[in-house]
Amino acid sequence: MSEASDMRSVVEHLAAAMAGRTPLPGVRIPLDQAVGLIAAERLVSRVDLPGFDNSAMDGYAVQAADLAGAGGRRRRGVRLPVVAHLAAGDAPTQEVRPGTAIQIMTGAPMPPGADAVVPVEDTYGGAQMVTVTAAVPVGRHIRRRGEDLAAGSVVVSPGDVLTPRRIGLLAAAGHGEVMVHPRPRVAVVSTGAELVPPGDDLAPGQIYDSNSHLLAAAVTAAGGRTAYRGRIGDDPATVRAELARLAAQVDLVITSGGVSMGVHDVVKDVLRESGTVEFVQVAMQPGKPQGLGVLMDGDREVPFFGLPGNPVSAAVSFMVFVRPVVRRMLGLEPADTTTVTVELTAGLRSPAGKVQFARAQSRMLPSGRLGAQPVAGQGSHFVADLAAADLLLVVPPDATELSAGSLVEAVLLDAELAVT
Ligand code: AMP
Ligand code: MG
Repeated sequence: MSEASDMRSVVEHLAAAMAGRTPLPGVRIPLDQAVGLIAAERLVSRVDLPGFDNSAMDGYAVQAADLAGAGGRRRRGVRLPVVAHLAAGDAPTQEVRPGTAIQIMTGAPMPPGADAVVPVEDTYGGAQMVTVTAAVPVGRHIRRRGEDLAAGSVVVSPGDVLTPRRIGLLAAAGHGEVMVHPRPRVAVVSTGAELVPPGDDLAPGQIYDSNSHLLAAAVTAAGGRTAYRGRIGDDPATVRAELARLAAQVDLVITSGGVSMGVHDVVKDVLRESGTVEFVQVAMQPGKPQGLGVLMDGDREVPFFGLPGNPVSAAVSFMVFVRPVVRRMLGLEPADTTTVTVELTAGLRSPAGKVQFARAQSRMLPSGRLGAQPVAGQGSHFVADLAAADLLLVVPPDATELSAGSLVEAVLLDAELAVT
């Protein structure tokens, strides 16, 4: 059997990863923790907005008819006694009778009797007497009760993104909490006897564990919460016990390494026997070997991704398969809204029969189109070139030789970071 016929397509594998995944059940949380999350309930305003007629200016509440003769070419002033003072937060105790004024600040309730506000700029103001130098029409500078929103109007619906502005509206409408789909708790585990935490000293043959850090950061950037990040060696009993322990604590488990054809491919060895995780070859480069399925925590199914160990493979696999699942759990559209068409500024070779996810750097071209310069190191161990890239080119299976000037689809790698 040829290699290609054994392989599953990227689209098929993504569909398998998404199957059965739903937004996490809603939880009610304080508004201040909700930014970026997706609402899981409908809420209506508890109040009219504004809640009462109030002044839009610092000035004087008056009866407009008293000022009919003010201003004009001769800049005539009308003198009125000031009978009270109203600040924001005060409740009016006096009314404005004909021929009087009440000093009023922005946001203070309109006193009974008044039908307009004269801004302080149009007066020679005082606390006892005010001289008004301009007439005002009835209603001027009054914010009317309910003119923004009526009590009972919907202020958030299931599926709405809780932007800072939406959170402001919820607060204005009297809601201190909102039900959201919570951030999925994710465990990220690197496997490999060669791995050492960054910061430690390396013995011969050892390398720093970069995958757990990259993947934990990618989880955060995608909106998830890394509940655990760590490293285990290649001992099957330890891996089995550790994965069972972690599954009980989280909504999603991601491992890296140990899923290909080596002698110590421990994730594959341990989980294949469980029967709930499949190990497949996906027609992509990088990222061909993939583990996918669920870990069982009693009756609860915990989605599991066994990503390949090469750092670029792990990073690409996360973007293509894991990120959409995190987004679905959050109640977001899993489909990537960050795909753009770019123009290659250099030629690119790609393997037949596989989607190549090539790393590239973007640059605005004089034509106004976004250009993409493939990075030099396309091998799956080139972490420096991976870090330098901001685009993931999606080269289809039938394209083997793309010339400079070709148009290709690309994923913006840092879209989430740019949004904040
Ligand atoms: P594996 O899939 O476990 O055979 O790993 C493939 C390659 O990726 C090997 O060169 C590993 O040393 C390397 N690798 C695996 N895990 C990590 C990791 N967490 N950080 C950096 N490199 C890794
Ligand atoms: Mg390994």
